[in-house]
Amino acid sequence: MDFDLTPDQRDLQQRARDLAQNVFAARAPEIDKTEEYPWDNAKALNEAGFMGMTIPKEYGGQGRSFLDAVLVIEQMAMVCGVTARIVVESNMGAISTVMRYGTEEQKRMAAEVIFSRADKPAICITEPEAGSAATEMTTRADKCGDKWVINGKKHWITGAGVSWLHLIFARAFDEDGTELGIGGFLAMRDETPGLRIGNREPTMGLRGIPEAEVICEDMEVPANALVESPSGFKRGFADLMNAYNTQRVGAGTIALGIAAGAYDHALNYALKREQFGRPIAEFQGLQWMLVDMDSQVEAARALIYKAAASAEKSNMGFPDVKLAAQAKIVASEMAIKVTNDALQVYGAAGYSRRNPIERMVRDGRMFTIGGGTAQILRTVVASQILGQKLPQTRDGYLKLAQREAADKASNAAK
Ligand SMILES: Cc1cc2nc3c(=O)[nH]c(=O)nc-3n(C[C@H](O)[C@H](O)[C@H](O)COP(=O)(O)OP(=O)(O)OC[C@H]3O[C@@H](n4cnc5c(N)ncnc54)[C@H](O)[C@@H]3O)c2cc1C
Repeated sequence: MDFDLTPDQRDLQQRARDLAQNVFAARAPEIDKTEEYPWDNAKALNEAGFMGMTIPKEYGGQGRSFLDAVLVIEQMAMVCGVTARIVVESNMGAISTVMRYGTEEQKRMAAEVIFSRADKPAICITEPEAGSAATEMTTRADKCGDKWVINGKKHWITGAGVSWLHLIFARAFDEDGTELGIGGFLAMRDETPGLRIGNREPTMGLRGIPEAEVICEDMEVPANALVESPSGFKRGFADLMNAYNTQRVGAGTIALGIAAGAYDHALNYALKREQFGRPIAEFQGLQWMLVDMDSQVEAARALIYKAAASAEKSNMGFPDVKLAAQAKIVASEMAIKVTNDALQVYGAAGYSRRNPIERMVRDGRMFTIGGGTAQILRTVVASQILGQKLPQTRDGYLKLAQREAADKASNAAK
């Protein structure tokens, strides 16, 4: 196994580091304070070729690997989690779904939106009553001749209000009322009739990017707005969700980058700050903390890179399901620990908003939740390890409970 980056990857990483350190680092505190979406950063990322870099060349991208994107995301996250999210969502998630399953027309349109508007597309799955239980979504798409009419409410949608392109998941029904399954529908802010942005969440961290409601009120999209898996509606949602493994690796990478950035700050601070007549880095209690922080960052990085690289070997072109889930679990939990330890190294200065650490603690807290919680991802890994298919719906769990009760009763009768 080769752990070395290629000269091209090292060059890419250096270019990302230069832009992050020289331009984005200074802007990060202001973005956090104003809670305004950093359009300047999005445009700079686009000009540098970091948006849509995984899009194939025939659609105007560079056809870069997910590992390449990960190298860029990590550098951005070391200074600004919000900016890193823009890179993730213009290279992974909704755009991966469209590039894998979309029609030629959909691929061209999505790529064009990213490159011409510096857009980060929004992926709209979660609903007020369907969070982890995503397949219980109630947003419905009714087939009406050559169009779909969609009604429902999504919430916690990253980028709602700033994203142009939206991939909205809904339960689809044929004209005779037959339920077809869950499908993804493309819609465009300010252009698709009936697409409305609702209330914004006041969030703990990553404040420069809005999370808000996306409301579909008799929203009309043409028949060709449906992004369909080759298996059609039947296995469609599961197929489309495979593309979400890219987003999981991307989210894990932001957590990794935030932790790596916090560790660097803590190390520099510990070398400069003096107490008892010597740098605090000379005290063994702090040395061990710094060693653990660095070790945990390195371990998470190895897993994230491995998960990203696994996409190269897969038929689907997506990261391996188990590795992607494990990488996100490990990196997201590590980020909570390492950013908190960095704050401890700073003492009171870490608790002050004058220093970046408290922002990194808030920003780093998100990743065990968004994009699949650490608990749900453990059920994903469990089903891979144990070879069991876990129920995906409330009905599925009810049937499982009934089967378990029947088994128990028959065992008792024996
Ligand atoms: C910052 C942020 C950005 C987001 N961006 C998007 C986005 O762009 N698009 C989108 O569609 N969604 C987005 N989400 C929503 C996110 O995907 C959901 O929050 C997540 O899936 C969990 O749903 P929930 O919050 O409703 O929690 P719930 O599902 O209500 O879960 C509550 C708790 O119960 C646990 N739990 C639930 N079921 C089980 C189970 N079977 N076994 C064990 N534990 C369980 C969970 O792990 C969690 O700890 C975002 C969320 C955040 C915080």
